[in-house]
Amino acid sequence: MTEIRDTVILGSGCAGLTAAIYTGRAGLQPLVLEGSAPGGQLSITTLVENFPGWPEGVQGPELIENMKKQAARFGATFQMAELTSVELGANPIKLQTSAGEILTRTLIIALGASARWLGLPSEQALIGHGVSSCATCDGFFFRGKEIAVVGGGDSAMEEALFLTRFASKVTLLHRRDAFRASKIMLDRAAANPAIVLRTNTVVEEVLGVEEKEVRGLRLRDVKTGELSEIPVSGLFLGIGHQPNTKMLAGQVDMDGDGFIKTSSNVLTTHNGAVVPGVFACGDVQDRRYSQAITAAGSGCMAALEAEKFLVEQGQ
Ligand code: NAP
Repeated sequence: MTEIRDTVILGSGCAGLTAAIYTGRAGLQPLVLEGSAPGGQLSITTLVENFPGWPEGVQGPELIENMKKQAARFGATFQMAELTSVELGANPIKLQTSAGEILTRTLIIALGASARWLGLPSEQALIGHGVSSCATCDGFFFRGKEIAVVGGGDSAMEEALFLTRFASKVTLLHRRDAFRASKIMLDRAAANPAIVLRTNTVVEEVLGVEEKEVRGLRLRDVKTGELSEIPVSGLFLGIGHQPNTKMLAGQVDMDGDGFIKTSSNVLTTHNGAVVPGVFACGDVQDRRYSQAITAAGSGCMAALEAEKFLVEQGQ
């Protein structure tokens, strides 16, 4: 018979690993399923300057690696497996994964969010050929070249600033004239001589599909309707993220964009009623803050709720 675990954590980003540290220390021997993006978004970022306790900042991958070691020290185990289906209403909760069936009394959903794309056919055709959503992964390939970044939030500012290490010029394209980015990030980007801010501008087409490499962008000024072209070798998207919740559709309540709706911070519901033993934390349920520290905080809450649930069940 398949063993029934006390707790399984879906996702190994900041929220999932914090939940693993707490449930590990509570003796629940959590199993963390890592999926296709182990470490989550921190593992593909650079310097994190706002995580308390690091006065000089810390590299995202180092922070994640430390959290993983800390969780392992308290008995967490890690498995690389793709989730293929879940039955949240079952008792015990059933997970089908590429590594087989897993049964668990509690489940902590920390699946995070993935980069959003513009959805243009030319953009999709050139992903990996000059179009990217990860500056830290792909910036190196654009040494001495001109590139563009799309977006008006902190992600776009961070990407643009990072990319000036490699690119000779970064054109930051934003669809409005007001920015969503925090003042400190916007000021840094605006002050960087290698960054040109271009507002009220959208990408109509990425040029170079036939050549199989980005050659430029066709742009439209949203105020005047005027079309123009810029020659760039790369296009980076920094237009936000969408939650990784497709697998859970119909089993937990979500908002219109697929973010899990939680009550009392981390309890999941289905048609308004609490789903027993199933908790959600981090970016998968947070569209407002999306910070490493808030993800960690909600991972802690989910772990404490899972522990409390098991005690109440007499486990
Ligand atoms: P965000 O704040 O939601 O910004 C997304 C940006 O992309 C917005 O400016 C939006 O334009 C634009 N956008 C969205 N869809 C678009 C489309 N289809 N075409 C063109 N533009 C589009 O997302 P984010 O920048 O990823 O930040 C998310 C959260 O993470 C925020 O809370 C942010 O503070 C945080 N974060 C913090 C840091 C840091 O502190 N260093 C770094 C990264 C992220 P509109 O403004 O017109 O909607």
